[in-house]
Amino acid sequence: RMIYQNGVGFGSFNSGGKIPLGLKRKGLRIVVTGGAGFVGSHLVDRLIARGDSVIVVDNFFTGRKENVMHHFGNPRFELIRHDVVEPLLLEVDQIYHLACPASPVHYKYNPVKTIKTNVVGTLNMLGLAKRVGARFLLTSTSEVYGDPLEHPQKETYWGNVNPIGVRSCYDEGKRTAETLTMDYHRGAGVEVRIARIFNTYGPRMCIDDGRVVSNFVAQALRKEPLTVYGDGKQTRSFQFVSDLVEGLMRLMEGEHVGPFNLGNPGEFTMLELAKVVQETIDPNAQIEHRPNTEDDPHKRKPDISRAKELLGWEPKVALRKGLPMMVQDFRQRIFGDHKEDSS
Ligand code: NAD
Ligand code: UDP
Ligand code: UDP
Repeated sequence: RMIYQNGVGFGSFNSGGKIPLGLKRKGLRIVVTGGAGFVGSHLVDRLIARGDSVIVVDNFFTGRKENVMHHFGNPRFELIRHDVVEPLLLEVDQIYHLACPASPVHYKYNPVKTIKTNVVGTLNMLGLAKRVGARFLLTSTSEVYGDPLEHPQKETYWGNVNPIGVRSCYDEGKRTAETLTMDYHRGAGVEVRIARIFNTYGPRMCIDDGRVVSNFVAQALRKEPLTVYGDGKQTRSFQFVSDLVEGLMRLMEGEHVGPFNLGNPGEFTMLELAKVVQETIDPNAQIEHRPNTEDDPHKRKPDISRAKELLGWEPKVALRKGLPMMVQDFRQRIFGDHKEDSS
């Protein structure tokens, strides 16, 4: 269902030799819901650079115009302030559905709204995909595995999720979103893709969104103690945002529905993460323990064999390489142009 146009090239996209000689791939019309957010804005950058036309749909709950401002004035870019809980009529070829707060602090802020966004929002975007015959990609999460009893987590694992806890609005919301996606696929023939994303970090993360990497980096830069929740022995696996975006695009363009784990298998305890942040920003940064939040998963590490085999994808940026790129962005946003020596 790729669209080609003779001679008119919006950029030479290499889709694995499937494009007939002499024909260039015509730019696609792509919706990115949540495109003004952290991950979405990086995805938009890649799609625009590839030659596609991108419509960002965002209600700016956690996203910011600043993340996509550099595309204003580009005729291939549009920004619509819209809440995906309301129906939306557009004509497009692909839908990357990212709209949903990702940080626990934000998704717990209004849990019912989080459920509506995941359930009604996803239903609307699937209805749109069905009506116009667009391919639909859901950004699900490693949270569907809950507090996992299998380690590392494979896509075949069904998870260990509390249905009535404070994280359930997000975990169960995303699980329902996956179910809806598969039912539109089976029942209405919608072409779908499902990504299960593990903890991702990088430039443009909200500075005060409460996630552990953004917290530690902002705290170290501001000379505040790093807040380690609980004993700090719980683990996460941290993926740099450019690796994720590459994975999402390969998934969308590939032949497989998924679900696919997209994450970096490099696993760290929160104390180890704090140490890497100290080494990167300030060896004298203090560590302060705080009580942990409810239902915090004890460990999290993706098995990415499926994505390696079927998408030819694996992450390239290790934590110690990726963190400095995020620090540079945070330094600029926290201190402005003023070059503060924080070591
Ligand atoms: P983010 O909060 O930066 O971005 C989410 C975007 O969605 C924001 O721009 C926000 O304004 C928008 N949004 C929220 N509710 C909306 C609504 N009802 N209507 C329209 N727009 C709405 O988060 P992110 O880290 O960029 O996450 C993007 C997606 O990836 C989310 O679906 C998230 O669940 C998923 N994900 C992210 C991570 C991660 O570590 N970053 C991990 C797993 C899954
Ligand atoms: N929808 C939408 N845009 C469209 C098509 C549908 O927002 O272009 C919404 C529609 O309002 C409905 C949902 O998607 O709430 C599911 O649509 P579908 O056609 O699958 O189901 P139905 O409308 O029959 O309930
Ligand atoms: N965490 C922490 N200090 C913080 C914020 C979070 O130790 O300032 C811990 C949190 O308890 C969890 C892990 O870091 O074990 C990851 O939390 P985050 O909110 O980043 O993402 P999650 O994987 O829980 O969605």
